Order: sequence, then C-alpha cells, then structure tokens
Amino acid sequence: MKVFTIRNLCKTYHTGEVDVHALRDVSLDVDSGEFIVLLGPSGSGKSTLLNIIGGLDVPSSGQVLFGDQDLSAASESALTAYRRRHVGFVFQFYNLIPSLTVRENVALVTDIVSDPMPVDEAVDRVGLTPRRDHFPAQLSGGEQQRVAIARAIVKRPAVLLCDEPTGALDYETGKLVLDVIERINVELATTAIVITHNAAIAGMADRVVRLGDGRILGIENNAHKLRPA
Ligand code: ADP
Ligand code: ADP
Repeated sequence: MKVFTIRNLCKTYHTGEVDVHALRDVSLDVDSGEFIVLLGPSGSGKSTLLNIIGGLDVPSSGQVLFGDQDLSAASESALTAYRRRHVGFVFQFYNLIPSLTVRENVALVTDIVSDPMPVDEAVDRVGLTPRRDHFPAQLSGGEQQRVAIARAIVKRPAVLLCDEPTGALDYETGKLVLDVIERINVELATTAIVITHNAAIAGMADRVVRLGDGRILGIENNAHKLRPA
C-alpha cells in the first residue's frame, strides 16, 4: 500500500535578491512499511523534502499525498493535526527536557493521540528499560537519541522521519541508533525515511534515494532486503 505520493515537487526559497531552488521536480512513491534513506551532499534538498513530507513546510508547486490527503493543499491546522497524529520526528539534536526522566520525556506526548503505545513499551523498544528513571544528563548521546526515538514512536506514527539522527554521534554509537530505527521499521511496520551523509548506513534501507541540487539523481533498491508485498 502506498503511504506517500509525491508529484513534481518544487520548492523555491526567495531570499533577498536570489531565488534558491531547493527542490526541482521531485517525484517519488513511498510504500507503507518502507525504509528509505535520503542521501546527498549538503544543500541538495534532503531536509526540505523531509520537512515537506512531515508537514513542517509546504511546496512552492507540486503535490504530496498522505494516503489520499493532499498535504500540499492542507490548511495550517490540518497540517498540525497531521504532524501530531501521524508523524514521529527525530532530529540531530535530541530536544529532551532536562528536568524530566526518560519515561516522563516519553509520556509527555502520549496525550496527543487516542491510542498511544504504553510508555514502558516505547522505552523497551529502544533498549532503555534499565535507564528509564534516569535524567537526560545521566545518559550518553546515543542513549539520549534513543529516548528521542521512543518519544517519536509512542504515538504509533505512520511514519518516522529522521533528519541526520546520527549527526552528533560517533560511527559505532550511530550504528546502534540506526539498528533501533531498523528494528522499529521491521517490528512495527513503521515507514521510515532517514537522512544521512553516511553511505555505509544506506545498506539498511529498502531503497536509497540520491539527491543532488534539488533533484533525484537515482534510486537504488537493496535487493537483499526485498520483502514480500
Ligand atoms: P540538505 O538537507 O540536503 O542539506 P536543504 O534542504 O537543507 O539541503 O537545503 C536545500 C537548499 O535550500 C540549500 O541551498 C539551502 O541553503 C536552501 N534553504 C533551505 N532552507 C532555506 C530557507 N529557509 N531559506 C532559504 N534557503 C533555504
Ligand atoms: P505543538 O506546537 O503543540 O508542540 P506541533 O504541531 O508543532 O505541536 O508538533 C507536532 C509534532 O511535530 C510534535 O511531535 C513535534 O515534536 C513535532 N514538530 C513540529 N515542528 C517541529 C520542529 N520545528 N522541530 C521539531 N519538532 C517539530
């Protein structure tokens, strides 16, 4: 089943005298449960694409459908509702509340949706049960990022959008964080779209979408990951 239909997406930022073409005619279909990696140099449009898919930004032209909901024509309040109910965001920085424990940080967002995952299950799925009553300052960067992932998945979002989730971590720690994202993708069938600079990470994805200068340069399937439809 298709979760996103992206057609002829363009995004132009008007900054003073110059127009920046962040996306130029991007089209892509995303199947429910897919793990997609967005790869490309800095400035190639990866964050812009992710933000539009996540309803944080709107395209200049073109269309993004979530199921049959047209995000590109949605009102601000409809986009907010879409983000709250259906999207889990993970960014490079964890944005945890320092005065709250792991469980409390995760519990904070559970009233957004009607059917959240139990907080302890979300904490367990990121492997932090032994640390669940600790505060962010007592955790390593990789553990803090796993709290951010628990907070993103406790809403049972349709899609997990990750913008450089390992950007502040060393390679080995980053690999652990990506293993957690991969496990969530497989076990919960949560569609995952992950931006990374690290080509080695791309092996986890069902498909690798390469961006350059606002365009899709190529899409590679990872054959070893092909699953029955
Ligand atoms: P990436 O995530 O691949 O690094 P971005 O999507 O962040 O790329 O940026 C694509 C292009 O759009 C870049 O040239 C960037 O400078 C420009 N850009 C991104 N956001 C803005 C903005 N809010 N205002 C102006 N230009 C922007
Ligand atoms: P609120 O303003 O009440 O927090 P939003 O609709 O802005 O609600 O956010 C809904 C979801 O989207 C939350 O999970 C939030 O973490 C995420 N989100 C929205 N905008 C951003 C942003 N700019 N940076 C990080 N997360 C965001």
